[in-house]
Amino acid sequence: MMEIFIPRHEKLGEGFSFKEKLDSFEHPGRRTTPHGYQSPASWISDLVALKKLIILCPFCRIKFNPGKHNYRRFYIPDVTGLTDGYVVNGKCDGCKQPTINLGGGAGFVHEAEYSKTCIDPIDARRKARARAKAMNPYLYIQQNRRRSQ
Ligand SMILES: [Zn+2]
Repeated sequence: MMEIFIPRHEKLGEGFSFKEKLDSFEHPGRRTTPHGYQSPASWISDLVALKKLIILCPFCRIKFNPGKHNYRRFYIPDVTGLTDGYVVNGKCDGCKQPTINLGGGAGFVHEAEYSKTCIDPIDARRKARARAKAMNPYLYIQQNRRRSQ
């Protein structure tokens, strides 16, 4: 296949905004041209084979079984409190639509990569409770009394 580049302005690559230049670095994802079409299922199984992060919109999410492929839902506690920590927005790997327009996407990480990228919600809760227990005002006063004596 021959590629034909048409300059948008006088020179090739001139006149593009910063965002357009950044968008050109983005991976195009699943091929949907008539010359190279790939089905969503085959694209997802390619990502699963490479243990990559998968972002899915609420409509495509129901067709993916994460447990069957050793995948877990991406979780990072949101300090802003705007989301529950499970929301991952981006381009849906199934339908190629921005998930923010479809009600918030979900990310899926392979079990082997989970500890490197995510915080286990159960472990995070256990640590938060231990911290809350350690902040007991009575114990704090007792400790300071002991130190001052
Ligand atoms: Zn989708």
